[in-house]
Amino acid sequence: MHDQLSEAAVTTPGPLDWRREAACAHLSEHSVFTRIPAEAEPVLRACGRCPIRKRCEAVVDPSHTWFDGVSGGRLWRNGREVTR
Ligand code: SF4
Repeated sequence: MHDQLSEAAVTTPGPLDWRREAACAHLSEHSVFTRIPAEAEPVLRACGRCPIRKRCEAVVDPSHTWFDGVSGGRLWRNGREVTR
């Protein structure tokens, strides 16, 4: 019984499982949460093929959270898009 519960806890989809689909999942957090365009380039390229791009921006809601980093295919600094 204990083993069944443990297995269920590992295999049952949770509310954050959509993150596993993120094209940037293998990239460093430093590149994701940077404020510097050159450092964000690898993540911005990944955004171009990311299946959860729209959801990423909807969840992060950069302009309302003063977000720093990459979300939804754009780089943000203090919740404002950084133009390249
Ligand atoms: S849209 Fe970009 S930052 Fe958001 S999860 Fe996908 S690859 Fe990562």
